[in-house]
Amino acid sequence: MKCDRCENIAAYSRKYSGENLCSICFSKAILQKTARTISKYNMIQNGDVIGVAVSGGKDSLSLLHVLNKMSLSHNFKLKAITIDEGISGYRDEALTIVNDFCSKIGVEYSMYSYKELFDTTLEHALEIRDNEKMSSCSICGILRRRAIDFGAKDLGVDAIATGHNLDDTLETFIINLLSGDTGKIGWMNPDTSANKTRKIKPFCEIYENEIVFYAFTNDIPFQSEECPHMNEGIRTEIRNFLNSMENDHSGIKNNMYKSIMKISSAAKDANSKQWKVCSLCGNECTSEICSVCNTLVNLRANQP
Ligand code: SF4
Ligand SMILES: [Zn+2]
Ligand SMILES: [Zn+2]
Repeated sequence: MKCDRCENIAAYSRKYSGENLCSICFSKAILQKTARTISKYNMIQNGDVIGVAVSGGKDSLSLLHVLNKMSLSHNFKLKAITIDEGISGYRDEALTIVNDFCSKIGVEYSMYSYKELFDTTLEHALEIRDNEKMSSCSICGILRRRAIDFGAKDLGVDAIATGHNLDDTLETFIINLLSGDTGKIGWMNPDTSANKTRKIKPFCEIYENEIVFYAFTNDIPFQSEECPHMNEGIRTEIRNFLNSMENDHSGIKNNMYKSIMKISSAAKDANSKQWKVCSLCGNECTSEICSVCNTLVNLRANQP
């Protein structure tokens, strides 16, 4: 089958649009779509230093690859930030891949660990938590967001880019809905241009399977090992459900994404956050004590 945009053989069929693309046109299409998302939500400004949170997975390394290509013809710089959660046997492979990839493409790379920032590893925190109600990923996520913020300040970046894709947005929306956390739906809007350090998700309008193909077709090495805690939460079930819906009804994920954007901007306006300062660590938060201090205080209370 021929590519719809050139004379090459097609390597990828976009079921939702009916388009067939060769590897080169497919990669160009990903770059163009990412550039459109960046400009639609005003994600990157002239002269910005962008901290790219790189885990070693396909999404974040593909994002670094795409942004690095863009940075060659635009006025912004990149710095890569990796977090070592302290998950034995898992993170080591990723750290080597990220280090090698950053050296190859000439991007400065810094690593921050839970151990050095919070005096605990994720494994230790999970051992001492007082009940299983707090899932591994929620403890990990709270600490990771703070660790990335710390790295961003330390490196003096203007915005933090993460590799979240369209599927991640849909899954997070359903998780927030099912857990009754409607407040968080308002925070899902990709426009964070009013925030102090912008959090940007340039892949938020791209299907996960397109990013997998982008990584393969551009020979981007990524971590094969999955986090041992990956399937503990409800996210995997939601992902499987959405994939089976998309298989039977192509384009349904795109439709759902558009609905979520409308709902989240309405919720954002109705629910603007009241910023306070955490009385323990001085970071910005929405209550007296931030979620990181709250988590650490609870964990330390269980320390033998
Ligand atoms: S899957 Fe969960 S525990 Fe593992 S790195 Fe991701 S957030 Fe952390
Ligand atoms: Zn082509
Ligand atoms: Zn705090």
